[in-house]
Amino acid sequence: MPTYDSSLHPDSHLVSLLHAPLDHQGAIKSPIYQSSTFCFPNAAAMKRIFAIKNGFEKFAAGEEEPMVYGRWNHPGLQTLEARLCVWDGAEAALAFESGMAAISSCWLAILRPGDVILYSNPVYGGSDAFIHQQLAAMQIVGVPFDANDSVETILARLQHTGRAEQVRVIHVETPCNPHNLMIDLEVVSSLKRALTTPEKEVIITVDNTYYGPVFQQPIKHGADIVLYSATKYIGGHSDVMAGACLGRKDLIDKIRSWRTQLGGTASPFTCFLLLRSLETLSLRMEKSAQNARQLADWLHTHPKISRVYFPELAGESDSINNQIFRKQCEGAGAMIAFDIQGNEAAAFRFLDSLKLIRLAVSLGGTESLCTHPATTSHAPLSPADRAKYGIGEAMIRFSVGIEHPADLQKDLAQALANI
Ligand code: PLP
Repeated sequence: MPTYDSSLHPDSHLVSLLHAPLDHQGAIKSPIYQSSTFCFPNAAAMKRIFAIKNGFEKFAAGEEEPMVYGRWNHPGLQTLEARLCVWDGAEAALAFESGMAAISSCWLAILRPGDVILYSNPVYGGSDAFIHQQLAAMQIVGVPFDANDSVETILARLQHTGRAEQVRVIHVETPCNPHNLMIDLEVVSSLKRALTTPEKEVIITVDNTYYGPVFQQPIKHGADIVLYSATKYIGGHSDVMAGACLGRKDLIDKIRSWRTQLGGTASPFTCFLLLRSLETLSLRMEKSAQNARQLADWLHTHPKISRVYFPELAGESDSINNQIFRKQCEGAGAMIAFDIQGNEAAAFRFLDSLKLIRLAVSLGGTESLCTHPATTSHAPLSPADRAKYGIGEAMIRFSVGIEHPADLQKDLAQALANI
């Protein structure tokens, strides 16, 4: 069985780790075990696994975990979770049926009534809604901070509200959607140190959907848990909903029991699709990032574009955003936002004129997609908040795919000519 060997590059692990073809009739790929339950050789073996699950006994060193029931574990899940750990350098991972299943299970496992979740603003709309609707109903309070707030400012605000001692989770999404603002993970680690007490460790959770795992590995920068909508780059083909949660083993074990009971475990087919996608993850991410870099530079010089939001843009090397980017990221990913000169009508004329690039939510697929954040993902924000974050009526979000960059540029050029 190919096991983890730290001398290998992640790309090599993602095609081989934890799969021994000769244990599976020679199947070169990890088969789909489309089975909800698994047989035991005898009643004693069955009794033992339930004793372990119920905490009465422990696995012996080197003892293999038997498969039991699809919501607990299954072979594809085991292989996928081992491979998900590789890029991020995580101790353990959990795969889910959606990104929101991963995020909600993680927070439910850690937070308790009376706790505070300190979070970077803005976060993905589903995460924001979960904080303000579901967590709020359990007396868990969300306290936001902005990308440019210093440690001192955030701590002073917390002291002022009298909630500093209640902070249990610091959640960040970096870069933020749609304008690629970076949250400094060094600032987040300082906050954790300032807010952790001997009785209570503050846990840092990072939504790494935009850049991860290839261009950003938050565990290296102090994160305890990394969260993914694997529907995006990890799945990468816009044909599967999935999520992942990775990090320290003690925390992941806690979240695993919530996953088992909430029931969001990734299915055999979801795991198969993700295992297939992981093999080309860095190829796809590198190619779409290369396209994005080229198109961002071209958009930057276009007379009908007033601003491009992309961290590696020529001429932006001195901005604070770019300094944070260089400190914690290994590449600028493939998400671009840009402001068209004009109003909502001009933005809609542009969007309606696109031919190769499709109009759809989501991101990180092989195909290029555009959205209008002000009237879709960020429509629930107040006009004042949209103005504060610079999400204007002429802003376009562009998820760059792996098509040929010349064709994408041609499509953008003809749509811009139409406004
Ligand atoms: N996090 C981010 C940054 C996202 O963009 C999304 C979905 O768009 C999610 C989490 C939620 O993931 P899912 O839609 O897979 O539940």
